[in-house]
This record gives sequence, structure tokens and C-alpha cells, in this order.
Amino acid sequence: MSSPFVTDGYREWYNERFAMRIYFDYNATTPLAPEVAEATTRALRDQFGNASSLHHFGQQAKAAIDEARSAVAALINADPSEIVFTSGGTESDNFAIRGAADALEPTGRRHLVASAIEHEAVLNTLKALGRRGWRTTLLPVEQSGIVSPDRLRELLTDDTALVSVMHANNEIGTLQPVAELAAIAHERGALMHTDAVQSTGKIPVDARALGVDLLSLSAHKFDGPKGAGVLWIKRGTRMQPILTGGKQERTRRAGTENVPALVGLGVAARLAAMKMSAEAARVGALRDRLEEGILRSVGGTSVNGARASRVPNTTNISFDHVEAESLLIALDLEGVAVSTGSACSSGTLEPSHVLRAMGFSAHRSQNSLRFSLGMFSTDEEVDRVVSLLPAIVEKLRGLTSRRDSGFGIRDSAASSPKSRVANPESQIPNPK
Ligand code: PLP
Repeated sequence: MSSPFVTDGYREWYNERFAMRIYFDYNATTPLAPEVAEATTRALRDQFGNASSLHHFGQQAKAAIDEARSAVAALINADPSEIVFTSGGTESDNFAIRGAADALEPTGRRHLVASAIEHEAVLNTLKALGRRGWRTTLLPVEQSGIVSPDRLRELLTDDTALVSVMHANNEIGTLQPVAELAAIAHERGALMHTDAVQSTGKIPVDARALGVDLLSLSAHKFDGPKGAGVLWIKRGTRMQPILTGGKQERTRRAGTENVPALVGLGVAARLAAMKMSAEAARVGALRDRLEEGILRSVGGTSVNGARASRVPNTTNISFDHVEAESLLIALDLEGVAVSTGSACSSGTLEPSHVLRAMGFSAHRSQNSLRFSLGMFSTDEEVDRVVSLLPAIVEKLRGLTSRRDSGFGIRDSAASSPKSRVANPESQIPNPK
């Protein structure tokens, strides 16, 4: 079924433009919703004023971004005054962690905790603060890809300043028990941040119900433009800005606002609120059809991560004895775009840190593909991918088996989960 939110005209344009290619990489980024494209383009042309200027042009721009602010606030059940616009998820994550660390340093708290499956925007920020003398701890995940609240309780100390655990994981889609984790962090006086970049716009995200102090989101993950995001800062939370300069965003984030992108973010937020439940059901059914089709038609496949607790658009599947990068390229040659995990790690053969943290071997972590669906995805596309895969996988397995000591020819024990590293002081992975 096609999305009822995509008009025939827009689909025709899309099909013509992309020559019937299939895009199953919505977690990397999404195409713009038509309404977003229109509003962003209009703002780029018409709202050129600097939102800090007192004259008519400036006030027009300010009104436009304030409208966007209200739309995002409504989407996540926040007050507009708590919304701080940023350039996207990476900046929001940096701001959350560095801003809280700078604010809390004088209190003597010098410890940061994040889950082992966070995006690099969080992991590498912790690493950078580690170099500045902060103690950092990675919270392990179960084989399901979900963290254990009890493990968090054990890892917290009286000097923990901040806990950062993502709402939905970008590679496997699993959802974390953020509200429970936030309550535990607060018991020990720590702040709680959640990276909701992959859940916002796909499932209901209620910043207050999650019980967090800080929440990151990014427009281009839910049909909005790149270069626009938000850090939600709960009123009263102690934070220092990381960008200093002018007084924009109530002195919390300096720099002239990117009005067209923020207008697009606002429209994307409004659309998401309107179509979320229908789209989540539609896209979830497509994802399930894809997943079941692959598991049925391709032997030696398995789903990574808890299937019951995921965002509806994502599946991550291991293909035994197939190098995921080769499969990705073979699919691309057939016009199908997928990913081996986070966009930032494509182009390298490094095993996914997420799957490694779940206890899977390096081989299995390199045998896995992420399929993420969205606005333009249809049954026909799902069926085409399911029909293409058996022959491609068979061919690649044939090639692999001819490379005698080659990649992927391992006994099944090598691709089954090993016991996880449970060292609370475990090392943060190297930047990719
Ligand atoms: N956090 C998560 C979970 C993500 O998936 C991404 C992007 O892939 C980011 C943060 C970074 O967001 P942005 O691309 O807007 O910088």
C-alpha cells in the first residue's frame, strides 16, 4: 500500500526522478515531504531577514521560526521556550553532553555514563571529555539490544553528572526503557539525556513522560531538511552553551538562525503529528512483510535485536556467510539502497559497534544489513527486494566459499552471540 500522504503527482515526480530505484535507507536520511520542500523553498526566498533584526524583515523571519518552535514543542509535549534550535542531531548530542558537563563541573561531579550502542555523536563526545579528565562508563546492552536498568543502577556513583541513553537505536531500531532509566539517574542526582533522533516523528515522543532533562532530535530523519535539529532543555536544567556569540536562542545557542531549514523542521513536525499513527501502522506492516519475506526465502538469516520493541520502520538482518558490504553493493546495482548500519560507518569494513556490544562476533557484525523504510515505501518495493535477495545471496555465498580462508566461512559458533563484555569501565570505541 502506498502512503495516503503521498499524492499521485508527487509519486510520479519521485519515480521519474529516481528511475524507479528503491530507497530503504530512511534511517540515514529521508526525502523531503512535499509540504516541507514547498515551505522551505518559500522561506529561502521570502524570509531572508535575520531573525534578530528589529525591522519588518527580521520580525517576519522571527515569526516563522517561532511558529516552527511551537510545532516541534507540540510534537514532543514541550513548552516552546524549552526548544533550542541547533544544526541537527550531532550538535544537539554535543550540546547536551558538553553543556551539562560544563555546568556541573563546579559541583564536583566528573562522571558520565552512556550506553554502548549510542551514535558516534554521543560516544565520541564522551571520548573527548575523557581526554579532559572526565571518567566515562559505557552501559552494556543485553543481546536484545536493550540496556538493563539494574546495570545502570550498579554503575552510577555519587559523582555521575549525566546519563545518556538513546530512545531508539539507529542500526537495529530497538527502544530503550528511557523513563525507567531516567528515574534511576535522578535518584542519584544525575541528569538524563536521550537521543531521540531515530524515534521522533516515527512513534510518539513525549519529553515529559520520558522523564528526561535533555532530548535531541533532527529534522532530516522525519521528512524534514538537513541542518536543523533541536535540543530540548527542560526548564530549570543547568546548562552552559557550547556555541558562544550573539544572544540567539535566549543565549543558549549563538549564531544566526537557519530560517528556511527551521521552517521545514516545523512543517515536518506538524505533518508527523498528523500522520504518525497511520504511517507507523503502514510502514510497520511493510517492515514485517519484508522481514518475514527475507527470513522465509533466504536461508541462514536472522533478525538482530528485540523484534517486539522497535521503531516500526527498521529491521537489521544477518546473512550468514555473506559480507554485508558486498550485499549492499549488489543490491545497489539492482537499484536498491540499504545500509550496513550507521551512515557514518559505511565505506569501511569495521564491524558495527552496536552488534558487537550485543555480543555478536565480528563476523556476524559484518554480515548484517539494515533496511529502513518510510514515506515512499510500498508493498511492490518490498516484494521486489524479497524476490531479488535469494539469487544475490546465493551468488555471493558461492563466491565466498571459493575463497577458502575467506571472509564469512566460519563455523556457526563464530556467528553466534558470545558473552558480552560486562566491564563497566569498558573502553569507548575509536572514532570511525
Ligand atoms: N543520533 C542518532 C541516533 C542518529 O541516527 C544520527 C544520525 O544518523 C545522529 C544522532 C546525528 O544526527 P545528524 O545527522 O542530524 O547530525
